Amino acid sequence: MTRHVLLIGGTTEGRALAAALDGRPGLRVTSSLAGRVAQPRLPAGEVRIGGFGGPEGLAAWLRAERADAVVDATHPFAAGISLNASLAAAATGVPLLVLRRPGFTAVPGDRWHHAASLAEAADLLPALLPHADGRVLLTTGRQGIAAFAHLDGPHVLARCVDPPEPPLPPSLEVLLDRGPFTLDDERALLRAHRVDVLVTKDSGGAATSPKLTAARELALPVVIVDRPPVPQGVPVTPDVEGALHWLGLSGWFPAAPARG
Ligand code: NAP
Repeated sequence: MTRHVLLIGGTTEGRALAAALDGRPGLRVTSSLAGRVAQPRLPAGEVRIGGFGGPEGLAAWLRAERADAVVDATHPFAAGISLNASLAAAATGVPLLVLRRPGFTAVPGDRWHHAASLAEAADLLPALLPHADGRVLLTTGRQGIAAFAHLDGPHVLARCVDPPEPPLPPSLEVLLDRGPFTLDDERALLRAHRVDVLVTKDSGGAATSPKLTAARELALPVVIVDRPPVPQGVPVTPDVEGALHWLGLSGWFPAAPARG
């Protein structure tokens, strides 16, 4: 009997798990993407794109598609879909696992300031800038830039994959780019734009951590926006191997290496 796994993705880990599961006999895997990015990196195998229509829509999809398990491999900050997945799993009785990479860990020399939200990160900035029109680099994602729209003093540079939409800070300069970025890339970026403060979410992962190393080398303050919690009672694994184990597939085949 074929088992059907819904893999809610949009991350490196989601693609790595899809690649590890693709083509396994007796297994059907559907990866789901939100459709936010104009040209997404597609995972291996079957892919559906677009929202489900809330927890009820997701529950209806799980029933209609006879899903046997759900792996929520969404980004640590995609709290809406994670909540929906937990509600839909509870409503249908389909087992749910969250695959979430560990967050960043501070090391000596880091000058990190934690913020509970993007709004709190914006509030912290004025005190961290050397002068009112200091220079801020936002790597909070396109949708996170709006939280900084009211800042009319600092020069704001934002790096994101697709162009952001209003509201936006008046001095905004957008750098369209997609990681992974090397340490050399990040050093060059921080120097070329004379960045005074970096703002980032605690996304974790090797693909985005070189900016933190570069900021440490330059002794720059970093505002780290803390993650929202994983929905209560849902098991969590930090890596693809853990997800394979949960699916009962550990040891069948090597997990594709997660690149961050
Ligand atoms: P979100 O706020 O948690 O979700 C909002 C709505 O978007 C959900 O209710 C759902 O719509 C739909 N959705 C989100 N992810 C989906 C998926 N993988 N498949 C189908 N529908 C999805 O999500 P978000 O923060 O905008 O993130 C969207 C996607 O981008 C996620 O897949 C996430 O992994 C990826 N991503 C997010 C970030 C980030 O910083 N937030 C960074 C990198 C990648 P319905 O209610 O209609 O089902």
